[in-house]
Amino acid sequence: MTLLTDRYKRSIDYLRVSITDHCNLHCIYCMPLGGAPKLEHKEILSYEEFLRIIQVALKMGISKVRLTGGEPLVRRGVSDFCRRLAKLPGLKSLSLTTNGVLLEELASELHGAGIRRINISLDTLQRQKFLRITRRDEFDRVWRGIQEAERVGFDPVKINVVVMRGINDDEVLELARLTLNYPYHIRFIEFMKINSDDDWVDQHYVSADEILAKLSTVAPLEQVVYQNTNGPARHFVWPDAVGMIGIISPISHHFCPTCNRIRLTADGKLRSCLFSDQELDIKSHIRQGATDAGLAQILKDSIANKPEKHSIQSDLFRKCQSRPMVAIGG
Ligand code: SAM
Ligand code: SF4
Repeated sequence: MTLLTDRYKRSIDYLRVSITDHCNLHCIYCMPLGGAPKLEHKEILSYEEFLRIIQVALKMGISKVRLTGGEPLVRRGVSDFCRRLAKLPGLKSLSLTTNGVLLEELASELHGAGIRRINISLDTLQRQKFLRITRRDEFDRVWRGIQEAERVGFDPVKINVVVMRGINDDEVLELARLTLNYPYHIRFIEFMKINSDDDWVDQHYVSADEILAKLSTVAPLEQVVYQNTNGPARHFVWPDAVGMIGIISPISHHFCPTCNRIRLTADGKLRSCLFSDQELDIKSHIRQGATDAGLAQILKDSIANKPEKHSIQSDLFRKCQSRPMVAIGG
């Protein structure tokens, strides 16, 4: 197996796979009001097609796969798919990002199927605010899903919080205080502009430094090294905490120089940068009978075209036009 590197000498070993663009929530930062256009069934890769592409990627040097969506748990048969995926040679880490709505039912199955790492999105501890952010009244189910994930053995349970000024920034401390009583990782993520209204994002963006300053008013934060991760989070703990705080700052401290990932969308497009609309179509090749070598070449081309960095802070930045976040998967 070769080590995959791009032209900026970054090792690429991580594939994020969006298995559906459908979702049972409609978060204000991810999905346009009124919903995003949904892919038809025939446009979405079948599980067989996903397995084939992932198998080729694993032979080339990818070793970590994260399933995402839309909401991955709304796709029927997801646990069986995970079971088959987990058995593929070369796969060292299989993880999932979910909104948690269906986790109470599925956590045990998913754990049994070989998923060991799980990230659950939860931006508020208040039911009414949850309804405002996600446009669905599902707070209680998500909270029960989080506890079920812990009960069946996911360790750590990671909770993703997108921080938005005037919406949930007043809850940063309360959310972080969960780490005093629960062994969770609470990960604060800077709000990103992906196919959303510029003014709206600018108005609600909160920087990682501001979040850290707020957290430091409670008790000194100690930065710790947490190895067991695929991503760009910086980790901190409060004294006596049983959990950990993560900070993910794609906007203020961009981590492009160490970016190790590419993405596969539900409709079979390889996307080498979250913020770039450059995509390569792998679905049409697989459906026209491409060989494994042919598919490997498309993966290589995608990695070769991976942009050096995003420029979302610059005035020249033009937000991604083609897809809302729900159709990329984060
Ligand atoms: N439905 C699943 C979920 O919500 O966890 C998986 C897909 S979701 C697109 C993946 C992650 O992207 C979530 O943690 C979500 O909070 C995050 N996300 C979505 N839109 C975002 C934005 N505009 N800025 C920052 N994070 C965002
Ligand atoms: Fe759905 Fe996740 Fe996007 Fe929310 S963040 S709309 S749960 S895909």
